[in-house]
Amino acid sequence: MIDKRRTISVRWICVCALLAASCSLAGAQNPAARPITLSVDATHAPQKILHAELQIPASPGPLTLYYPKWLPADHSPDGPISNLAGLKFSAQGKEIPWQQDDVDMYSFHLDVPKGADSVDVHLDFLLSAPGPIIDFAGSGSSKLLILMWHEVLLYPAGVPANQITFHPTLQLPAGWKFNTSLPVSSQSGNTVIFAPVPLDLLIDSPVQSGEFTRVIPLTPGEKPPHELDVLADDAWALDIPPELIESYKKLVAEAGALYQSHHYRDYHFLLTLSDHTIGLGQEHHESSDDRVPEHTLVDPSKRLLEAGLFPHEFTHSWNGQYRRPVGLATPDFQQPMKGELLWVYEGLTTYLGTILTARSGLWTPAETREYIATVASSLDHRAGRTWRSLQNTANAAQVLYFAPSEWASYRRGTDFYAESVLIWLEADVTIRSQTQGKRSLDDFCRAFLGGPDGAPVIKTYTFDDLVAALNQVAPFDWRTFFRARLESVDPHAPLGGITGGGWRVVYNDEANVIGAAEQESSGKGDFTSSIGLIVKSDGAIEDAIPGMPANQSGLSPYMKIVGVNGHQFSLEDLKRALQNAKTNSAPISVIVSNTGSLETHEIAYHEGLRYPHLERKEGTSDHLDDILKPLVNPSSAK
Ligand SMILES: [Zn+2]
Repeated sequence: MIDKRRTISVRWICVCALLAASCSLAGAQNPAARPITLSVDATHAPQKILHAELQIPASPGPLTLYYPKWLPADHSPDGPISNLAGLKFSAQGKEIPWQQDDVDMYSFHLDVPKGADSVDVHLDFLLSAPGPIIDFAGSGSSKLLILMWHEVLLYPAGVPANQITFHPTLQLPAGWKFNTSLPVSSQSGNTVIFAPVPLDLLIDSPVQSGEFTRVIPLTPGEKPPHELDVLADDAWALDIPPELIESYKKLVAEAGALYQSHHYRDYHFLLTLSDHTIGLGQEHHESSDDRVPEHTLVDPSKRLLEAGLFPHEFTHSWNGQYRRPVGLATPDFQQPMKGELLWVYEGLTTYLGTILTARSGLWTPAETREYIATVASSLDHRAGRTWRSLQNTANAAQVLYFAPSEWASYRRGTDFYAESVLIWLEADVTIRSQTQGKRSLDDFCRAFLGGPDGAPVIKTYTFDDLVAALNQVAPFDWRTFFRARLESVDPHAPLGGITGGGWRVVYNDEANVIGAAEQESSGKGDFTSSIGLIVKSDGAIEDAIPGMPANQSGLSPYMKIVGVNGHQFSLEDLKRALQNAKTNSAPISVIVSNTGSLETHEIAYHEGLRYPHLERKEGTSDHLDDILKPLVNPSSAK
């Protein structure tokens, strides 16, 4: 997934799924087991409630049922159990008492009466609206719904998820259409009957539905099919710019050229354009659940910022879904996951998503370099890197996803996304240098993420497997290479990939293209590389980086700037004050409201505005330019 509240400039939250090593999702179920029937009534989705009925085969005696807790794309124990309501159990027409486990809130205990061979379950799921923290229940509006099956089911304890068969049915509001990668058995009116499916694949296959949808084939007449499924709150939003569709077609072609394989029967980009659902990107084997604000495709700033969403989530079909770290491949949704290799699952995906964004033309090479410069600057001014290693940000992902943006620099967040761009770029440049340009990380991708085409399969790996695969491409001390960067508490970011790639990070008063789009979109002013301050449009301080001028003057998150050099606060006034300070010996004077008290602070800073960019190192090989060139038609590079 993509971290929407990421610190750097790319903002999705990716979290992924379960399963045992090297198992096939489709068809792995125990044929002897009777399927669980699941009937979801979504006709009241506009009223923010879903109803579900399950019939779960069972034997008389104690029975424990789980509500999905560790969600594959979330890397966290965040199943939205607080939105579960109306829970009732019965057998043979009689209600059965139940108990929630005293310790594990995701476990429900009941006794199946003698003579019964199944339990009937009724439950409701309460939809919510997007808020300041991640809330996946914010998945519907009056015009649309993205159904995430894990929200509306229970499953029996003690059986691997790929051996539990579900037979799902979905009833939609009148007139709503739907798209999903889940195979359909039949449809009658607005009731859809899906083919029997193992639980893990069911949870991996969301359904988007609503009044306004559009299907755009991206590989017409080819196998496997790829399609863009668009869902919106209004009909006008379905009018996707034609050049964007062409870039998405190039993305499919470039991913095919990079991975030379596919691990899906067909692939659906499930794009939702809405201001009323949580913004996210969530990966699945055969689809991605991509949600952005309604105006994204017609707003140049938003479009620039979200350009990498599809490349990131599509890459996950190979890196994260097909190849998965062993600690993230659990047999059911109850077993804890270990995030130690998230710098590969999410980090390598962020790097590959970045270069695919460039190769497919969604970003120009210049825009891609601006993005890399923002990553380098942000991570090079990360106060927390002297106490928390990058490895720890991965291990602690399950809590860091839900941390606030305030104090992000000192706390650190899910930095294994963005910092891995720098590390994997350095790995790519190292392979190219070591082999005199004969090999690259592309070769590693084909070897490690490729394999036989076909239906979804999971193949797990360890750190040792990763090192061995890289050594097959280019012999090198990869173990030391990664461990040194992962365990470092150096105050500076690893910039060897940029310099080795033929570029250097420079700072000047010219706005960074990606940074400017971020400010245009979010209204935040990012002064990370000058006074170490991130401030919202109303003056609320999101971060004041320890060790940098703003924090040294006494500013901190949760204060609100109300005045700058005698003027009422505005971002433009603050920028002007920074620029004027270059030729002025007086400190910058700011008045802040600190929990109701007014305070004046003096920022001793005289270097003007500083924004990051990449500058070419003349006389060196331009590996970065080579990396960003399309594979399918290199001459088409801009
Ligand atoms: Zn991701």
